[in-house]
Amino acid sequence: MRRKIVAGNWKMNGSADLVADLVPTVRKAVAGLDNGVEVVIVPPALYVPQVRAEADPVVAVGVQNLSGYEAGAYTGEISAAMAVDSGCRYALIGHSERRRLFAESDQIAAEKVMRALESGLSAILCVGETLEERDQGRAEQVVEGQVCAGLSGVGPDQWDRVVVAYEPVWAIGTGKTATTDDAQAMHASIRRWLGEMGAPAQDVPLLYGGSVKADNAAALFAEPDVDGGLIGGASLMADEFLSICRAMPVNAGN
Ligand code: PEP
Repeated sequence: MRRKIVAGNWKMNGSADLVADLVPTVRKAVAGLDNGVEVVIVPPALYVPQVRAEADPVVAVGVQNLSGYEAGAYTGEISAAMAVDSGCRYALIGHSERRRLFAESDQIAAEKVMRALESGLSAILCVGETLEERDQGRAEQVVEGQVCAGLSGVGPDQWDRVVVAYEPVWAIGTGKTATTDDAQAMHASIRRWLGEMGAPAQDVPLLYGGSVKADNAAALFAEPDVDGGLIGGASLMADEFLSICRAMPVNAGN
């Protein structure tokens, strides 16, 4: 049975007050869920200790980014070891905002994936095409390139800590969601590419991201290759986020 995961990416949003309000509510409700979903909160790094204190051990915590370097004179960076030290279990890597606004290449994403895995974190590699690439009929080619490059260094004993999040760039923060058919088709392709890379593809959780809300989550999670969601805006509202967590069917996954 594949793991089912709903991860909330707060991006550069939130405050100490939001953590104090939202996280205990989420923790209490998640403790009562019986659908086996693993819930992760990915706040700005400065709030990780506070989120962890409120969430642990029911809700896991992650970082939105980490350095491709191990340690040293890299002002402003946070290492994978520091994320582990702070109690994180997950790291988002290669989010489209990092790729687009901070010029993160596939090679940088691959280095960060390896830092995360070597440090014991689970790496959530984000991939997805732009609207222009989709309109040009290149969505599959682009996503295949990102998956194969980003995960090129993963060793045979590390796949159990790899998660892929398919997030079409045109669906992030726009209110537009891929159709369930489009999401399923891309997830099935990602699983095939993972298999061709030698990964235990049937065991790798594949999350969908891009304007997932309480009212579309159930349909997306019902698709056979959609193992959960990476949630942006809706993760900042406890009720909405919890409705998405509840939308995971009990028997989801293979
Ligand atoms: C994201 O930030 O990864 C995301 C999917 O955002 P949103 O849910 O707001 O589209």
